[in-house]
Amino acid sequence: CMPAVPHGLFVEAVRNLVALDADWVPTDADGSLYIRPFMIASEARIGVKVADEYLFMIVCSPAFQYYTQPLRIKVETDYVRAADGGTGEAKCGGNYGGAFYPTALAREQGFDQVLWTDGKTHEYIEESGTMNAMFCIDGTLITPARSGSILDGVTRDSLMTIARDKGIPVEERPIKYSELVDALQAGKRVEAFGAGTAAVVAPIATISVDGKDYTCYTGSDAIMYRLRDWLLEVRKGIAPDNHNWNYIVV
Ligand SMILES: *Cc1c(COP(=O)(O)O)cnc(C)c1O
Repeated sequence: CMPAVPHGLFVEAVRNLVALDADWVPTDADGSLYIRPFMIASEARIGVKVADEYLFMIVCSPAFQYYTQPLRIKVETDYVRAADGGTGEAKCGGNYGGAFYPTALAREQGFDQVLWTDGKTHEYIEESGTMNAMFCIDGTLITPARSGSILDGVTRDSLMTIARDKGIPVEERPIKYSELVDALQAGKRVEAFGAGTAAVVAPIATISVDGKDYTCYTGSDAIMYRLRDWLLEVRKGIAPDNHNWNYIVV
């Protein structure tokens, strides 16, 4: 129900802020300026209704690789992040409230994050914490197909595009966590990672299913690290920007 910010205004606002805060852009190899545009209702009123007044804001902050250690995550089959027919595909504030408690429980149990499953059957993988979930099984990049309950992330899209450019097979399809378990038990090379703007690629070392730990491949020659480096090289202007992803602020 919120109005869309006109594209031109949005781009101009981000451009102006980044130009103003250019000195905050880290020069470290691992650093970036994280830009977070958001919009909230700002109407002075108590009541449950669609607001008539909104505030569009952008904040930014220097950021550094924040998941340094490969993650230990748990397949979540009790709680749901987003349901079919809900708002899971959008970066909507309401999606995050309900995710905190299951995540806090997982932390108490020694995990970094949960691997969300679908709300109907709890068999299909949806997302990894607040990142899109991606896997490489025997050299094929696999990610859950878009649905109303999976965030349509730009990093997910960029990594798939780069993989295709590099000739890596890509599959966008529903994936059951039992498929991962089967692949791991069959001795296949399984890489698992979260994909999102801030972390880019957050490697997953351990996936726990019903109390049993499975180890994913995190060796330095893992495909996920190559995908991450390729994307970072485009971001930094080291590799050609074949898809016009960059917007140069001067
Ligand atoms: C932000 C976010 C992502 C990643 O989206 P990007 O556009 O790649 O940053 C994935 N899942 C959830 C739930 C998110 O909030």
